Amino acid sequence: MAPPIMLVTGGSRGIGAATAVMAASRGWRVAISYQSKAAAAEAVVQQIRDAGGIAIAVQADVGVEADVLRLFDTVDAQMGRLSALINNAGMLEQQTRLDQMTLDRWQRVFSANVFGSFLCAKQAVLRMSTRHGGAGGSIVNVSSAAARIGSPNEFIDYAAAKGAVDSMTIGLAKEVAAEGIRVNAVRPGLIYTDIHALAGEPGRVDRAKAGVPMQRGGTAEEVAEAIVWLASEQSSYVTGTLLDVTGGR
Ligand code: NAP
Repeated sequence: MAPPIMLVTGGSRGIGAATAVMAASRGWRVAISYQSKAAAAEAVVQQIRDAGGIAIAVQADVGVEADVLRLFDTVDAQMGRLSALINNAGMLEQQTRLDQMTLDRWQRVFSANVFGSFLCAKQAVLRMSTRHGGAGGSIVNVSSAAARIGSPNEFIDYAAAKGAVDSMTIGLAKEVAAEGIRVNAVRPGLIYTDIHALAGEPGRVDRAKAGVPMQRGGTAEEVAEAIVWLASEQSSYVTGTLLDVTGGR
């Protein structure tokens, strides 16, 4: 049987890149998408190919429907039938209080984190659901522990966006459970990636790690382990689950 195909959005860096590399090493053919950092995406593809794997990279802003349609069409044409979608692309903005935020910011945050996940989930369901002639599959949403913590004084908008991703995970899991599709979420805690620099605090994980019961930040690979497991047949009876990868936080 041909190796299954996984699409990892935001696979050029951080958790998405670790997921793509790990999945490829475990027999998946991998498509990654990225927003603007083409060189980083090509480096991930090259790393996978150097190890004997199969990978492609496609530029697509997940918040733009035309980009998402082009992304899925490219995966169809260049790879084949999709078996797993990892809704990983996400971002946050500068740490501030809600009373200092703007509607423009909320639109950007919800576009990338919520609408991007919805747009990609829609395309995945249209391809995977037995209702639409598909052969089933797995969707893993990368949410955040922020969804239950709320992120006061930092980014309540991002936390609320991830809360929406959690609700989508629960609802969609039930909606498509009898159509061969499992839908789960991973909720990372404080993970060492570039995302914290966007919030204006590159050293955020080290500053906050004393509040983590395990007393340390996590790695992108530790999150990728959970994502790849939820995408795989090893988790065949798991759906609608929100899996925290937070060191107990
Ligand atoms: P990261 O290192 O900043 O990487 C973000 C990735 O998403 C990059 O590949 C980026 O593409 C892509 N991306 C961002 N906005 C996009 C858009 N609108 N359209 C398409 N791609 C977009 O972030 P990360 O820490 O690995 O985060 C990955 C996921 O984990 C996110 O959903 C994040 O919310 C979640 N998360 C992270 C942490 C943490 O502590 N790191 C904790 C909880 C949850 P470019 O390379 O082209 O910019």
